Amino acid sequence: MIYPEILHENEEVHTLEIEKSALLFAETFLNLWDNFILTAPMGAGKTHFLITLLKKIGKNKSIVFKPDLIYKFSPKLESRSGNVYLNVYNVSDFIDNEVFYKLEHFRLKNQKYDLVIIDEYQFLNDRELEFLKSLSAKKIFCGLEKDYLNRTFSNLFKLKDLNPYSIRIRKLCRRCKKAEITRNVRFINNILDKSGETYKTPEEDPYLFVHETAYYESMCENCYAKLC
Ligand SMILES: [Zn+2]
Repeated sequence: MIYPEILHENEEVHTLEIEKSALLFAETFLNLWDNFILTAPMGAGKTHFLITLLKKIGKNKSIVFKPDLIYKFSPKLESRSGNVYLNVYNVSDFIDNEVFYKLEHFRLKNQKYDLVIIDEYQFLNDRELEFLKSLSAKKIFCGLEKDYLNRTFSNLFKLKDLNPYSIRIRKLCRRCKKAEITRNVRFINNILDKSGETYKTPEEDPYLFVHETAYYESMCENCYAKLC
């Protein structure tokens, strides 16, 4: 399943398309499957999709997790369209502090949540991933499919045994407005960054996280080819 079905070059219309898609998803596909993988290139509207979905499902019927690795930098959902969702849990903290999160653990065990959302699933460690996979609730694992060098994140393969339904959010390339975004390109001091290209997987790459002078831009294959 691909969202939105029609790509629009206007940012505001794109945001509306994402919103409509999220509502349609909540009313139809969400009921048909147990586990989902939602991938999107950076800046394609994934967080806007999630916040729209969360508003529809309701705070008491849903719970949102982020991996410990990313929670330190970004403990909430914040879309580029300006929407914020604060009620996000650090998965490792949640596993380690069962007494503190007693109510939420109880609610998870007793099927009180209609939906569990895991944001930035690509950064989950194995322990976090296994914990979340073991939950019987309906789950959406959201995040990136590929890293800054177009390598697929290993966690995508580790979710296959859940038999997930895959959804992909599309967006038009901002540079050419002709093709769909397929790459998350990184620049450091305005220079195309390929520092970790000798590593086969994102997880082996010591440069997967770099200092804040890095800048990401998502673009289509053609525009990327012009940079190389
Ligand atoms: Zn392009």
